[in-house]
Amino acid sequence: MEDNSKKNAPARERKVKGKVEIDIQKCKGCELCTAACKEQALTLSETINIKGYRYIIANNDACTGCVNCALVCPDAVITVYRTHPVKKPVDITPENIREQLQSIVSPSK
Ligand code: SF4
Ligand code: SF4
Repeated sequence: MEDNSKKNAPARERKVKGKVEIDIQKCKGCELCTAACKEQALTLSETINIKGYRYIIANNDACTGCVNCALVCPDAVITVYRTHPVKKPVDITPENIREQLQSIVSPSK
């Protein structure tokens, strides 16, 4: 029986994520970008574009925003956006504030 545990695993937590936009009508399916993508986030489509080429489809869940694909694309049809990193929630409680104020008022005890 096939092991689907990896396929169904949630996307890895990353500090930086990417979002790729591809002008599919200008893509010629040369796959230089797929070779440059270490995350295997880019695949060739089953259908063809207006020029008769299979084009690239991006899986943005896997994209880290490294921009390798955009750099190697000879036709400059890829745009990469980096999303803001997830900020760690700040734990603000009256106790924490009191402790911080005390460390400012009397730093060495
Ligand atoms: S930006 Fe990097 S991770 Fe994202 S699709 Fe392009 S090469 Fe892959
Ligand atoms: S490198 Fe550019 S033209 Fe070539 S397949 Fe990728 S997106 Fe399309």
